[in-house]
Amino acid sequence: MAAQEKKEAKKVRFLSGVQPSGKLHLGNYFGALRQHIALQDEGEAFYFIANYHAMTTVQDRGLLEQQTLDVALDYLALGLDLKKAVFFRQSDVPEVAELAWVLSAVTAKGLLDRATSYKDKVQRGIAPSVGLYYYPVLMAADILIYRSHVVPVGEDQVQHIEMTRDMAQSFNRTYKSEVFPVPKHRLDVGAKVPGLDGQKMSKSYDNTIEIFQEGKALRKRVMSIVTDSTPLEDPKDPDTCNVFALFQLVSSKEEQDELAGMYRAGNFGYGNAKKMLLEKIDETFGPYREERKRLEKDTGFVMSVLAEGGARARAEAQETMKLVREAAGLGQMPVPAAELLGSR
Ligand code: AMP
Repeated sequence: MAAQEKKEAKKVRFLSGVQPSGKLHLGNYFGALRQHIALQDEGEAFYFIANYHAMTTVQDRGLLEQQTLDVALDYLALGLDLKKAVFFRQSDVPEVAELAWVLSAVTAKGLLDRATSYKDKVQRGIAPSVGLYYYPVLMAADILIYRSHVVPVGEDQVQHIEMTRDMAQSFNRTYKSEVFPVPKHRLDVGAKVPGLDGQKMSKSYDNTIEIFQEGKALRKRVMSIVTDSTPLEDPKDPDTCNVFALFQLVSSKEEQDELAGMYRAGNFGYGNAKKMLLEKIDETFGPYREERKRLEKDTGFVMSVLAEGGARARAEAQETMKLVREAAGLGQMPVPAAELLGSR
């Protein structure tokens, strides 16, 4: 039975994506990438660079291409193993846009109206395009097209996974089918990493510490973390401090207890805590920086990795689309047009 259970556990499929909308930061790492990389040993992992999604904010060809490459370099340098995980660009599987349309037809508009992430982004000045509003439908298609079971994400994505569950059930119910498993989200300890200002760390808040920042630039960011104005000699509360919250992500329990003790004892300034945080960030990410620099010199390899991952992902997506088309009465997957015309 134990062996049987193990076999079943192996079949769990994980799916997640990251937008190439800027440099990846500690929020992305501790909320998402770290668990993505760990989970490649626990089941079938599909991870993609969400370049269709990024189009709502990145509308410059060169920048989108560069940022896509950057995300790929980050994942590979941080330890993604291509023998274990399928790693690809979202746009290498265009079928996902077709599935998004199919899902939109069985999704109530009210569901999207309740999306807090959309409201949040618009409030921050991102253009309220139809694409931005439609984001949860495309995201549901991303997940469902690989018939995924578990979606490892940060807390800000949980509502979108709930919506995906609704859409999967709605499709299955409407077409009396069982095409889609109903997926679940998975959170890591860093489900909501605070930024320099204490709000959620986010590329669009300009409050990030980048995973691959180093030297003076990194120091400048760490030193600018906002703290309160408690005088140096007074005791301080680690539980309300941004520096301490970030320190917890990169240190051991003993190191955290030690730093918490220094906060509470007083005569200890936030500047010292920031220096300790900086050291731990260097220690945690230092080894990955070298690997990234090595990979940067071999972008041909990175592009070939993405092309191969894209082909593997697309094969899987096309299998799902056969079932979707059949269930919904859309006819078979079309043969490539050139092939069809050539045979006439
Ligand atoms: P995105 O940048 O929206 O593509 O996010 C990529 C992944 O990082 C998603 O799983 C997010 O939930 C996660 N993420 C982004 N910011 C944070 C944060 N501040 N704390 C935890 N997870 C985050």
